[in-house]
Amino acid sequence: LPQKLPNTGTTIFTVMSALAAEHGAVNLGQGFPDFGADPGLLQAVTDAMAAGHNQYPPMTGVPALREAVAAKLNTLYGAAYDAGSDITITAGGTQGLITALHACVGAGDEVLIIEPAYDSYDPAIRLAGAVPVGVPMTADYRIDWAAVRAAVTPRTRALVINTPHNPSGRVATRADLQELERIAEAHDLFVISDEVYEHMVYDGAPHESVARHPALRERSFLVSSFGKTFHVTGWKVGFVAAPPALSAAFRRLHQYTVFTVHTPTQHALASYLADPAPWQGLSGFYQAKRDAFRAALAATPLKLLPCEGTYFQTVDYSAVSDLNELDFARWLTTEIGVAAIPLSVFYQQPQERRHVRFCFAKRDETLAEAVKRLAALA
Ligand code: PMP
Ligand code: GLN
Repeated sequence: LPQKLPNTGTTIFTVMSALAAEHGAVNLGQGFPDFGADPGLLQAVTDAMAAGHNQYPPMTGVPALREAVAAKLNTLYGAAYDAGSDITITAGGTQGLITALHACVGAGDEVLIIEPAYDSYDPAIRLAGAVPVGVPMTADYRIDWAAVRAAVTPRTRALVINTPHNPSGRVATRADLQELERIAEAHDLFVISDEVYEHMVYDGAPHESVARHPALRERSFLVSSFGKTFHVTGWKVGFVAAPPALSAAFRRLHQYTVFTVHTPTQHALASYLADPAPWQGLSGFYQAKRDAFRAALAATPLKLLPCEGTYFQTVDYSAVSDLNELDFARWLTTEIGVAAIPLSVFYQQPQERRHVRFCFAKRDETLAEAVKRLAALA
């Protein structure tokens, strides 16, 4: 067999979910809700099937869904994406990311990724023959723009940004996006903007989409996913928004790797998106969970790091253990009964920190049980 990704093991999400299941641990590792989606949305899928929406939709996605996405991007971010030429429905954020990367980088190109970096970026870039260049965030998980500038070389072709940020829970500011725009323009870089947590931003802060910044939008692939927004991670439906030339390059690959995605789900999402209440209410819904989870964890020796967005809470466990992050996450799962994700897996180089990530997209009872078990750390 050809040695593709020779140094890449099994993704941490699969590893930790299997370990959690094996040991009966509360799974706060892999990011997914343990509660149901809106019954109205589920019914809409059944209705779409009954109505006969079961054959291939257009390669780029069901038109009504592309229109609903374009309308939402326009309302929220003031961006005029054209539903016909600029929006493509994808098999989740993961496919959006890899296809966007393959559309704009090739052999020998360098792609900047901000570390900790979501684990699919590195292999997606390598599979394109390009080189992922990790740029660590500052100690408190802000983007280190001086380090980004220093990492740019004549071979740098693109930069991947993620806000709200998995795993740190940080949210980029307007100033961050302005820095990004300056660097991207100065070095003529493509931007892959992973915004799958766009509707989970807390304490009244805005989501700083690339779509809000016209010059940036022109060189960006905006990637999002309905799985996060509507509590249906297993549906694997998302979208990529990009200007016509970028979308055309994206679709050239999309048509022969995926062609299109699940039809009835797209119809259901199209009608569901017409009501802004579910996505407008998401930040409030998760902020309440964040606050309750943080308040409960405050009684443990785990030190809470800021959580400004996403459904992830990162903690510093150095008061509890000297184990490295992977070993600690395993120990926490097998001995304490709570699964977490070690942040070390999101870096190219070994890290000296003692940080793990918990997912709080869980029922209150699940979080209460996890906290009860974590009380044993005191
Ligand atoms: N990007 C980030 C930052 C994510 O956390 C995830 C999934 N949790 C994805 C992309 C992939 O999204 P999807 O499940 O829709 O493929
Ligand atoms: N993105 C999710 C997380 O960060 C997991 C997705 C996956 O399992 N691939 O936990």
